[in-house]
Amino acid sequence: MKRWNGWGETSITNELPENAGVFLDTAIGATTPPKDAALADVVAAVPQSQLTEHPLINTDADMRLRHARGQSFPDWLALRSGSIEAFPDGVAFPQTDAQVKTLLDFAKEHDVKLIPYGGGTSVVGHINPEPGDRPILTMNLQRLNRMRRLDTASRLATFGAGVAGPNLEAQLRAKGYTLGHYPQSFEYSTLGGWIVTRSSGQQSRGYGRIEDLFAGGKLVAPAGELEMPPLPASAAGPDIREMVMGSEGRLGIVTEATVRVSQLPEKEVFHSVFFPDFEAGKTAVRQIVQADLPLSMLRLSTGIETETTLKLAGHERLISTLERLLR
Ligand SMILES: Cc1cc2nc3c(=O)[nH]c(=O)nc-3n(C[C@H](O)[C@H](O)[C@H](O)COP(=O)(O)OP(=O)(O)OC[C@H]3O[C@@H](n4cnc5c(N)ncnc54)[C@H](O)[C@@H]3O)c2cc1C
Repeated sequence: MKRWNGWGETSITNELPENAGVFLDTAIGATTPPKDAALADVVAAVPQSQLTEHPLINTDADMRLRHARGQSFPDWLALRSGSIEAFPDGVAFPQTDAQVKTLLDFAKEHDVKLIPYGGGTSVVGHINPEPGDRPILTMNLQRLNRMRRLDTASRLATFGAGVAGPNLEAQLRAKGYTLGHYPQSFEYSTLGGWIVTRSSGQQSRGYGRIEDLFAGGKLVAPAGELEMPPLPASAAGPDIREMVMGSEGRLGIVTEATVRVSQLPEKEVFHSVFFPDFEAGKTAVRQIVQADLPLSMLRLSTGIETETTLKLAGHERLISTLERLLR
C-alpha cells in the first residue's frame, strides 16, 4: 500500500546507512526530527463531508485524507505533521468514460468543485483542495487503466488515461513495445497526468517528451466530449492537442490517450562516468550533444548531488576510490 504521508510503498523501507547519517549531520548540522502525526489522529480530525451522497463517491475520512495533498516538500511537511488545512469532501474512482461524465454532471448540478487526480504526484499544489464554502470532489482516474487498442502498423497505442507508468509499460512490453517515458515519478504518475502537465522523462532525449508521444485522445468536459484523432500532421489551423497539453485539468478530463510507441530495444546499456569537476562534465555533455550521438539519456549531476547519492546508497568504497583517482 502507498504511504499516506510520503513517497513509496509501506512494504519497502530503506534504512539509512550509518555513515550517511554522519554525512548528513556534517552537511546540514545535527537535527532533532519532529514526531510524526499518527494516521488515526489525522483521520479523526477530518471534518464531516459536505457532499450530497452519490453511489460513485466515497466519503470515508481515510480516503479523503489520502487525496488531500500531493508530493512536494511542503506537502510532505503538512502530512508528516498532520497540519492539513483542507480535504476533499469525497473521492470517486470512475471505471468508464460514461461514469466520468456522470460525475461531471453531478458536480455541475450541486455546485461542487472538482479536482481531476491521476497519480497525485504533483509538486506544485495542483491537486490540493483549498479551504472554502463549496464542497470538493476529487476524481481519481486510476481505474481507467487498460490498453484499449494497439495499432502495430502505425505504432499507436490507446490507453485509459489513468494508467500509471509501470502498468502502462507492462501492457506494452507484453506485446514487444515501449513508450519510453520515465519521469522520476514513473511509479505513480499517470499517462493523463503526463499529458496535462507536459511531462518530460529520463529518456526523453531518445524517445521524445510527452509532446512528441501524445498523438490524440478524448477529453470529457461539462459541455461535452472532444475527440482528438491521432492525425500524423495537418495544415488546417491550430493543433487542438496543443491546448490540452499543459491544461492541468482545467479544460476537462482526459479519459483516453493515444501515444506513439517504439519497438522494445534489443538491449539497453547505462553507463556512469565520473569527472574531476563539473566544468569537465559540462564540456563532455556539450560535445556529446553536438556530435549527435543517439543516446536516450544524458544526465549531469553536480559534485554535491553525486556525493549525496553515493553516501545515501552506502557506496563508501566507491567514494574513496573516486577521490583517489580523480584528485
Ligand atoms: C519524486 C517526483 C519526481 C518527479 N519527476 C518528474 C519528472 O522527471 N518529470 C516531470 O515532468 N515531472 C516530474 N514530477 C512531477 C509530476 O510527477 C508530474 O507533473 C506528473 O506528470 C503528474 O502526473 P500525475 O498522474 O501524478 O498527476 P497528478 O499529480 O494527479 O495531477 C497533476 C495535474 O494534472 C491533472 N490531471 C491528472 N490527470 C488528469 C486527467 N486524466 N485529465 C485531466 N487532468 C488530469 C490534475 O488535476 C492536476 O492539475 C515528479 C514528482 C515527484 C513527486
